[in-house]
Amino acid sequence: MERRAEEPVSLSASQPAGTALAGTSGGRTATGEGTAVGKSAVRTCVGCRSRAARSDLLRIVVVDGELLPDVRRRLPGRGAHLHPDLACLDLAERRRAFPRALRVPGPLGCERVRAYVQEIPRPERDEDEPGRC
Ligand SMILES: [Zn+2]
Repeated sequence: MERRAEEPVSLSASQPAGTALAGTSGGRTATGEGTAVGKSAVRTCVGCRSRAARSDLLRIVVVDGELLPDVRRRLPGRGAHLHPDLACLDLAERRRAFPRALRVPGPLGCERVRAYVQEIPRPERDEDEPGRC
């Protein structure tokens, strides 16, 4: 319970796994660069570039040149991870993070993702709705 969210935890795991450890343990072949830290896997948001638990991020895949929110994490192929937040979506778009993360030539349509993100209820922002009590 002493952990502070803001504190940069020195993760030795962030260093590239040395080739010295020639596959003795950890037979898992990670498809992404994300390294599982402790219990939950951590991914980097393609928008704000901060690390977050995979469960806190929206997985996004590309289908026919269009970005789709993979809500159930079942779609095949590469996935990009994004905070379900418009700010992060805008950031990701601006720096063309999706084509890069998904290894496809851009540009990619993001209307579906945008619509999805806009519809997510945000419990932290009750104040946005004035005059209801
Ligand atoms: Zn983000």
